[in-house]
Amino acid sequence: MTIRTRVAPSPTGDPHVGTAYIALFNRAFARSQGGQFILRIEDTDLSRGSKESEQIIFDSLRWLGLDWDEGPDVGGAYGSYRQSERKPIYAEHAAQLVKSGNAFTCFCTRERLDEVRKAQRAAGETTRYDGECLSLGEEEVASRIAQGEAHVVRMKVPRAGTCKFKDILRGEIEIPWQQVDMQVLMKTDGMPTYHLAVVVDDHLMEISHVLRGEEWINSVPKHQLLYEYFGWDMPVHCHLPLLRNPDKSKLSKRKNPTSINYYRDAGFLPEALVNYLGLMGWSMPDDQEIFSPQEMIAAFDLERISLGAPVFDMEKLRWLSGQYMRSLSVDRFMDTIHNWKINREHLARIVPLIQERTETLAELIPQVDYLLGDRISLSPADFEHKQLDQEQLVQILQFLLWDFENKANFVAAELLETCNAWADRLELKIRDLLFPLFLAISGRAVSLPLFDSMVILGSDLTRMRMRDAINVLGGVSKKKLKRLEKEYSAFQTDDD
Ligand code: GLU
Repeated sequence: MTIRTRVAPSPTGDPHVGTAYIALFNRAFARSQGGQFILRIEDTDLSRGSKESEQIIFDSLRWLGLDWDEGPDVGGAYGSYRQSERKPIYAEHAAQLVKSGNAFTCFCTRERLDEVRKAQRAAGETTRYDGECLSLGEEEVASRIAQGEAHVVRMKVPRAGTCKFKDILRGEIEIPWQQVDMQVLMKTDGMPTYHLAVVVDDHLMEISHVLRGEEWINSVPKHQLLYEYFGWDMPVHCHLPLLRNPDKSKLSKRKNPTSINYYRDAGFLPEALVNYLGLMGWSMPDDQEIFSPQEMIAAFDLERISLGAPVFDMEKLRWLSGQYMRSLSVDRFMDTIHNWKINREHLARIVPLIQERTETLAELIPQVDYLLGDRISLSPADFEHKQLDQEQLVQILQFLLWDFENKANFVAAELLETCNAWADRLELKIRDLLFPLFLAISGRAVSLPLFDSMVILGSDLTRMRMRDAINVLGGVSKKKLKRLEKEYSAFQTDDD
């Protein structure tokens, strides 16, 4: 059997380190078996997907050296590798399931479904579809569709019994059918849901092994059932342990930088990040800590993946990056610095900010230090302010941080607008509101234009610096966070 694996990211914003982690393992397994590794773009959720973030995924995986044998940009015999371009295939397969009686057309409105859920919740039941449209006759269905009534296609699911399936790492898993909903397969807009698309694509692309994050385990019963309905063999499943924050919660951008681009912009070496991701849930047979993807492939064995929750540890990653730095030749090291930020392209973004403000060239570097490298470390004394106490400073930074988390791309005018809005809401002078932000970003109360600086640094570095500033100011306890969240959402509703 030819081993074929895939990584299937949705292009919805930042390229996540979790995607690189899953890609690394899929690629290592496929290559270790002389098989193929495929990149598929799962962009059926059209409102969220975008070509731009698709390109960012390609670029960031390539930056890490994780190339693929087939994919939207390199082609292959099983294309298209972009789900939005496979619409007719899903429609055809959904129709096939309706015809064979394994799926049905459902006309229930959102309002009705909300009512059902509400009643189920009140009765202490698991919320799930109640089967209202299961018994509609063929003629009624045809005439309602002909009249243009909005509808979805749902899969049938056994009402009782237990679904059993195998996971290479976990052995047999059992999930009662009671916990499995009659999943929507085709949405009202004619697009498939993830569950239908993933099964159809994995089958048609002849994927032999599905290695993906453990958050998908609960979806396997639906997928297994779909394979059965279609009469197809199911690929081998292997759910990898999720990356975790130091507090063991699922790695999230609120607590840790999760974008691959953050690590690139913060100056980590790609070799180090890939090596580090290889250490998450896996170890070399001789426990060697420093290894290349090539060495990982040579030694790769699915059975060696461990199920412990791998914690993403920045200090360890820094250490690894240092090891790789030291191993570079002087020439490679200079090229690396150049490719990073000391190049015309990057300087062209900074120069417009400084030219007007400079008398001698020697003044340049001190002015731009925080744009080219880490900003200086801060202490609580730096934040002393006539009007604002520590509590207010934390509040300002936290509220802004939450707003910035929702902006994929920073645009200076929009950042200004956000800050003006908060100055209004908090009844502060804009100068005072910006005081902690200046410090967080540049390490000083006065710097080059703040919003332009944030655009140059990008969202990830900016947010990381703000989080660091909040920590310098004493951090936010769980209790305080709850209170701040409440205040924050109260402000949001006031604006409506
Ligand atoms: N599109 C899914 C994701 O974003 C893929 C899950 C899978 O590998 O089946 O994680």
